[in-house]
Amino acid sequence: MLYQSYDMKDPHQAAVPADNVNNGLYGQDILSVKQFNRQLLTYIMGVADEMRALVKRFGKANLLDGKILANLFYEPSTRTSSSFQAAMLRLGGRVIAINEVRYSSVTKGESLPDTVRTLESYCDVIVIRHPEVGSAAIAAKAARKPVINAGDGPGEHPTQALLDLYTIADELKRLDGLKVAMLGDLKYGRTVHSLTRLLSLYDTEFYFVSPEILRMPEEILQELRQSGHTYHEFEDVHDVISKVDVLYVTRVQRERFDDPDEYERVKDYYVIDPEVMSKAKQDMILMHPLPRVYEIDMRVDDDPRAAYFRQMENGMYIRMALLAAVLGKA
Ligand code: ASP
Repeated sequence: MLYQSYDMKDPHQAAVPADNVNNGLYGQDILSVKQFNRQLLTYIMGVADEMRALVKRFGKANLLDGKILANLFYEPSTRTSSSFQAAMLRLGGRVIAINEVRYSSVTKGESLPDTVRTLESYCDVIVIRHPEVGSAAIAAKAARKPVINAGDGPGEHPTQALLDLYTIADELKRLDGLKVAMLGDLKYGRTVHSLTRLLSLYDTEFYFVSPEILRMPEEILQELRQSGHTYHEFEDVHDVISKVDVLYVTRVQRERFDDPDEYERVKDYYVIDPEVMSKAKQDMILMHPLPRVYEIDMRVDDDPRAAYFRQMENGMYIRMALLAAVLGKA
């Protein structure tokens, strides 16, 4: 698989002078969290800290001056697309945004590899979101320039998981020894798939809370067993709320259900409201990748433990760090 190779993807890029080409991500695709180890994560989170300081102090930098990002979104997005765009702009680069694929040649039947080959001839890095699992890998195979997976259907969402991990580290000041609950749509939620894999690089105890039909996929549970992690599965959030350091809530993903009745049965299975929060630890954090629909009551927003808006902001710093690293400027 492409991401397991740390060789330079595009030999032509090696000739380009870069400030730092030894960061482990220079010229690489970012397709799955499986390509990260603890050392690389520490490095990226450190760069994200620097990006945050830079934005707070100066608002912008010219690190990626002259570079172009193609933002190719075949599925709706608010935070991922706009934070990648903002990340590139704040680093002095420019963006070609293709959010409305229905206005592009995709509607004329153009294949994903052809679309990607076209875009890479104009830009330096491609960010792609697509409804099918494995689509980012297909794009990466076709491209010589780095491709970043911004969500491939119910598969993975590596940049979200990186910002989630960064948020946990930033809020709780540690990543080992935590009890982490994930709640809601664990079957189709790509963010929880990626985050579970990243957290399994640390000493984490997992609590998975979902309706029976939306349980965490067996493939991921098996990975946890193999890596010697403890996990527990529950249906009721009240069984876990007082025990955990992190409660990561997800939306039930209507767009992934074949049977609309099934969606109706589980769509408002969980609501985190002030009553549920009253049972949680004083220093726990409540996270959500957003958008939320029914699952977190707005009355919880002012609770200091509600970290989801800070989490969302962190997305820009992590994506600034990733773009700089992939383009050899971190
Ligand atoms: N924004 C996240 C994603 O793209 C979560 C969601 O859509 O519910 O996966």
